[in-house]
Amino acid sequence: MDETMSGNSGAQPATHPVEGLRRYQLHIDGASVAPEEGRYFASEDPYTGRDWALIPRASGADVDRAVRAARRAFESGAWPALTASQRGALLRRLAELIREHAPRLAEIERRDNGKLAAEVQTQVAYLSDYFHYYAGLADKVQGSVIPSDKPGVLAYTRHEAKGVVAIITPWNSPLTLTSWKLAPALAAGCTVVIKPSEFTSASMLEFAELFVLAGFPPGVVNVVTGFGAEVGAPLVEHPDVAHVGFTGGEAAGQKIYEAAARGLKTVTLELGGKSPNIVFDDADLDRALLGVVSGIFAAAGQTCQAGSRLLVQRGIHDAFVARLVEFVRDIRLGDPADPATHIGPIATPAQFDKVLSYIAVAKAEGARCVAGGRARPDIGSGRFVEPTIFVDVDNRMRIAQEEVFGPVLSVIAFDDEEHAVRIANDVQFGLAAGVWTASLQRALYVTERVKAGTVWVNNYRATSYTSPFGGFKRSGIGRESGVDAIQEYLETKCVWLSPGLDVSNPFIRR
Ligand code: NAD
Repeated sequence: MDETMSGNSGAQPATHPVEGLRRYQLHIDGASVAPEEGRYFASEDPYTGRDWALIPRASGADVDRAVRAARRAFESGAWPALTASQRGALLRRLAELIREHAPRLAEIERRDNGKLAAEVQTQVAYLSDYFHYYAGLADKVQGSVIPSDKPGVLAYTRHEAKGVVAIITPWNSPLTLTSWKLAPALAAGCTVVIKPSEFTSASMLEFAELFVLAGFPPGVVNVVTGFGAEVGAPLVEHPDVAHVGFTGGEAAGQKIYEAAARGLKTVTLELGGKSPNIVFDDADLDRALLGVVSGIFAAAGQTCQAGSRLLVQRGIHDAFVARLVEFVRDIRLGDPADPATHIGPIATPAQFDKVLSYIAVAKAEGARCVAGGRARPDIGSGRFVEPTIFVDVDNRMRIAQEEVFGPVLSVIAFDDEEHAVRIANDVQFGLAAGVWTASLQRALYVTERVKAGTVWVNNYRATSYTSPFGGFKRSGIGRESGVDAIQEYLETKCVWLSPGLDVSNPFIRR
């Protein structure tokens, strides 16, 4: 058995020996199964740089097995026989199990992507509330009776589950970004095949066990692990997949969208961002400072909603930047398991190289680095980047236009509301924006004009299962979370009910 990877590119987890590592299996049709080709690859702890687990390297044959299981579960057996309320009850049981197992799952995620223990614990525990919310929504999906112009005929709508949903997710918040799709998909009555990131698959394989414990029928939730081209692509292309829910980078998002279009499948895409955090001169600057810092440096900037462009009003620009630089000096880089750490490692080698290359690009473009700007090879695995701030940034520079996905802030001065909005919107992305002001008028001016799926006023990074999240422009398609997200997983059927009268006959139609 080939127990290591072969054919790696630099962007994939590296080949390593297998001694003493925890070995995971695929989750298909309610059981743990080995990948057909018997291959595994190592998962690495980004802080220590050491491998800790073996992840199955699935192939197209495993994808086919998983999708067939999901289709069977969708069409026959216990799942389609459940009422929506019974589905809700199962989801509630799962939500309780998540609460119980959250500390263990959070520990696995920290190990896999190097996020701070404090942050990942809160994130994973919150998923329980997420599933409770969609458990409650399962039996509140209602059709409507349509006032008909055909006498004697009743027209009404039913909302029916689309079928098998493919869920493909990145490494930055594995269980959270999966649950954003999984909870509404299951509440809608779909069955799913999940393809987690090759860098962070272990937590999802453990999570799958909770569905067995909760009593979900086999095949409703399946997990296939491996690489984008080997597992993600055949999953999207599989003829029995009806909808694809994806979070990740634009390049993969485009390929998935193209493949889904060939199969005439629907998609939900949550892609990148270059979100502006706009600070006006009348803002509570203490609060704004914290919002700006957490907006860009939380999770080492490895979040799609990172406030990576600070737009600050010219009159307060120098003083605010000086405070920011002072604040950043005290930020501690280190072991994500240590509660005293503020910023952990960069999750993957490719991402580390990408962040450093953008720092070089910014310098070459003429932006001035006033904080950080260097790697820290002396900490842990050495995959650390200092919190970095660039001033004298022109919004046309690459550092202001492209997603870095790291702890790098670009500061741009603006004159007034109109100027701020113009800069804010002058990017291809439209995921989120922050506005800091004491003026309701200014806040409304910006919230109405900024092209972004989420706008935070005097706060940053708030998200909830209750509220829609998604992108304008190249940041994505569709919305996750909130009541409307369940519609992504439903088809609308119109029923014309006619007791005896054939209205399709042109001779009797009125
Ligand atoms: P990615 O987009 O390459 O991968 C995300 C997921 O898609 C992974 O599970 C991957 O295996 C899968 N995938 C890749 N190619 C595929 C294909 N052709 N068909 C089907 N599935 C495919 O993201 P990444 O490698 O994790 O990170 C790359 C960049 O994406 C990062 O540098 C970052 O800028 C961005 N990113 C964005 C987000 C976000 O939340 N918007 C999250 C993580 C990464």
